[in-house]
Amino acid sequence: MRHIKILFIFVAFAFALAPEMKLRRVQKDIYMVRGVDALPSKENRGFMSNAFAVLTSEGWVVIDALSTPELSKEFVDNLMRVKKAPIRYAIITHYHPDHWYGAKTFKDMGAKIVAHKKLLDFYQSGDAQTVLMATKERFGDVYKNVVLVPPDIVVESRHVLKVGGKTFEIVALAPAHTDNDLLVYMPSEKVLFTGDLVVKNRIPFMGDRGASSKGLLEALEGIKKMDARVLLGGHNEPMDMSAVEFTMGYVRFLRENIKKLKDEGKNIDEIREALKNNPYGKYVMYDAFHNANVFKVDSELDMEEL
Ligand SMILES: [Zn+2]
Repeated sequence: MRHIKILFIFVAFAFALAPEMKLRRVQKDIYMVRGVDALPSKENRGFMSNAFAVLTSEGWVVIDALSTPELSKEFVDNLMRVKKAPIRYAIITHYHPDHWYGAKTFKDMGAKIVAHKKLLDFYQSGDAQTVLMATKERFGDVYKNVVLVPPDIVVESRHVLKVGGKTFEIVALAPAHTDNDLLVYMPSEKVLFTGDLVVKNRIPFMGDRGASSKGLLEALEGIKKMDARVLLGGHNEPMDMSAVEFTMGYVRFLRENIKKLKDEGKNIDEIREALKNNPYGKYVMYDAFHNANVFKVDSELDMEEL
């Protein structure tokens, strides 16, 4: 009996460390897997982002590729249990590892990879390889089997995909969360895939080198005007428009307060100190992202003043 109890505790512990991938149906023909709210680790295998798939009469359309080929294969296995059908397209919402690095699985299955033109530029510049090497070094074995694939279709402003009776309006944005964000809108379903532009009760990451907090606010203003009932993001449960307000609230909080403190002549350390206790401290990813966000917005405001 005691052994069984110990075994049970061990198994429960192992599951707690290694999040299971469970395919869920969001609504008719739309499925998702939900990653954990954490930074990548050996324990979570890099499964810290969401991926989505839409079933059409001509096959699957995937939105985001997860962090590794192992995870994207597991995702595909799950999809094939729902319906054995080809993967027609994999749309990558932006170049961050947890959205792009699993893309080779779909490419190998004959899917066309769709991404922002700037993602292709990043790939062709060689910088993507440099970042991949650094990521492999930083996170050990998690990314060891990642092979980068470039997009087959690039979006510079807007691209409409019609697949098996379903329409996907893909919009390329100006720099916001990164400099290569895509939005994917399904007009009949009123479903909007938001990548990492929109979060709820979670701190958005604004520290990317191509990010723009000003651009992010503009993108969020645009999203607010869209006729979307469900927002499907890279890191949350399915959201509604209230998530846009939440994200805007945090971005505005940072921009307005940092600007005020800079006008008072405060330096970055004093600004960090002054913003230490704030209402956002209770949300997930605060410890991982907040300081990087303060630093990035501070340097952005310097540039904006020039
Ligand atoms: Zn991201």
